[in-house]
Amino acid sequence: MRKNFFTLVAVFMAGLVTSCSDTAKNKIKVLIADGPQRAHKHEDTTPVLKQILEKSGLFVVDHSRSTEESSADGSYKPDFSQYDVVVVNEGFGANYWPEATQKAFEEYMAQGGGMVSVHAANNSWPTWKEYNKMTAVGGWDGRDEKSGPYLYINSEGEVVRDTSPGKGGSHGPQHEFELVVRASDHPIMAGLPATFKHGPDELYDRLRGPAENVTILATAFSSTEQKGTGRHEPALMTIDYGKGRIFHSILGHHVEQIKEGSFVTTFQRGTEWAATGQVTIPVPADFPNQKF
Ligand code: ZN
Repeated sequence: MRKNFFTLVAVFMAGLVTSCSDTAKNKIKVLIADGPQRAHKHEDTTPVLKQILEKSGLFVVDHSRSTEESSADGSYKPDFSQYDVVVVNEGFGANYWPEATQKAFEEYMAQGGGMVSVHAANNSWPTWKEYNKMTAVGGWDGRDEKSGPYLYINSEGEVVRDTSPGKGGSHGPQHEFELVVRASDHPIMAGLPATFKHGPDELYDRLRGPAENVTILATAFSSTEQKGTGRHEPALMTIDYGKGRIFHSILGHHVEQIKEGSFVTTFQRGTEWAATGQVTIPVPADFPNQKF
């Protein structure tokens, strides 16, 4: 009898372990990568990005932070192959990843990995050529016409690749702006309203880069009154890199901006799409006013 009891307990415990690992196994594995940078507080934003993903119930999230030392001595080498998607929360002035880590990431992406570029991640690493293909466009840190064309949508709704010389990357004061959906049938955008508000946030403009294999999902009009360009600037994008998928959002300067419904839903759905090519996360009925 006693033996049977222990057998039952053992079977019960084995069942628990199996069901826990099954649950984790069915979730999308995310790695958030960040590190020291100037102009943005990754220590504050990364935990909130993690919470946003976990709240959907769809993701398990790990975090990997480089240091000046581990970037310089080559010891920063997360195992990207363990993850369905890598969320890059790097920024202006970030230390370059070690060369072997850069190559490993390029290989991971080319073979079908997923990546999400959050806000200032498109400022990072202007001379890492393949990374700039993954983000399509970026800004600051010496970017100019040698980085590639400016990318925007003109008043006729046509995508423009403008090779005229000039610096890449600018923004006026933080303000509220409207996002205009440009690819309503894309899985990330399906079910979202045709236009929706975001901000106050920085509205990046004059981004430039290789701008290859990029789909503009949504734009924001950068008004000259807000020291912008008078152009419809790309705000949400997807990029194909080999077999890999990238979701690129210019939104989310700091914690209060990434807690906005407009960011939360597009980030969750964009991360799912980058990982799987599909989107199952629903659009909240009160989007973009839902509380996080
Ligand atoms: Zn910013």
